[in-house]
Formats: sequence, structure tokens, C-alpha cells
Amino acid sequence: MRKKDKKQFYYIKDKRLLLHVCCGPCSTTCINRLIDEGFKITLWFSDDNIYPESENLKRYENLLIVAKEHNLECLYKPYDHKSWLEAVKGYENEKEGGARCGLCFDYNLKTAELKAKELNIPYFATTLTVSRYKNSKRLFEIGDKMDGFLEFDFKKRGGYDESIRLSKELGLYRQHYCGCEFSLAESNAYIAKKNTEKS
Ligand code: SF4
Repeated sequence: MRKKDKKQFYYIKDKRLLLHVCCGPCSTTCINRLIDEGFKITLWFSDDNIYPESENLKRYENLLIVAKEHNLECLYKPYDHKSWLEAVKGYENEKEGGARCGLCFDYNLKTAELKAKELNIPYFATTLTVSRYKNSKRLFEIGDKMDGFLEFDFKKRGGYDESIRLSKELGLYRQHYCGCEFSLAESNAYIAKKNTEKS
């Protein structure tokens, strides 16, 4: 049975949850909502998709600012971009939102499922659903195949706008691209096109 959003998790007694986090800004509103729902959160920064490594570390450092605000434990997965590239092999030229992203979601959610198991944490969720650029239904279809996944659609109830507001309040770095080198190239091309149109 599909687990619907909106305080439906009142019946869960053991509220320990591992939260897969893509970046500090996205984590803000997700953490608030999970705390509201009574979850005890451990943060899991596992983002081998992010390129280059310096960007991965920059996003992690910004997450630490949010973690400190809430006094939450924040775990870091050592960077392994090679394995991620293997996972999306053959789909490099897909546009953002295409098949490569489905493989990327699967890769990242899988690391969360495994980490939650290792730590004996019964549930996990992902901040990826807060972005209006990411299809929550698709993320749920992928997550539902894994043990302990909870369907939190964090973009609901104005979650995305709220994450921007909170990020500004905390002075967090907000990136202009999703994460991988392919999305970086796509974003740079878009910015260059806009600049040409303006001049
Ligand atoms: S665009 Fe984003 S979601 Fe898609 S493959 Fe790249 S990093 Fe992953």
C-alpha cells in the first residue's frame, strides 16, 4: 500500500530516521517538517553525483551549518564519483529530468537504504523531493522498492519557497546547478544563452 503524505506517520512508534541530504539549502525545510512530525533525525550526506569534489565538500560544509542549528548528527559518505559515473553510463547525454536522473535517484537512495540498515535506523527519506525540479512521484516509485523508505513530499505546503527563505536567513551557499558535470554544462549553456540575449 502506498504511504500518503501529510502527517500520516503518526502511527509510527520508533521515529528514528536517516535523512538523505542533497545540500544544506534543501535540508532546511525538510528538517523542520520532520521535527514537527516527531522524527529523530540523523543526516546523511551521500552525494557521489556532485561534481567536482570541491563542490561536494562545499555543499557538505553548508549542511553542517544547518546541522549545528538543530544539533543533529551529520554523516558524510566519502566521495566516490567514479562509481556514480558507472551507474549512469550510457545516459550522460540525457537532459536533466531524463533517464540519467532516475538512475541517479536510485543510486543515492540505495546508499541511504544501506546506511540506515547498517545503523539499525528503521526509516529513511530524502530531501530531493523538496526541489520543484525533481519529480516526487518518480522518487517515490524508486524509494518504495527499498526497505524503510518514507514518502515525504517536502515541496508540498510551500516547502521549496520556504527552503529559499531559510537558506537566505542562514546565509547558505545556493548552487546554480543540480549536481553532476552534465547538469553543470547544461546550466552554464543556459546562463550563456541568457547573457547573449541580454547583450
Ligand atoms: S541532473 Fe541532478 S539528478 Fe540528474 S543525474 Fe545529474 S545530479 Fe543526478
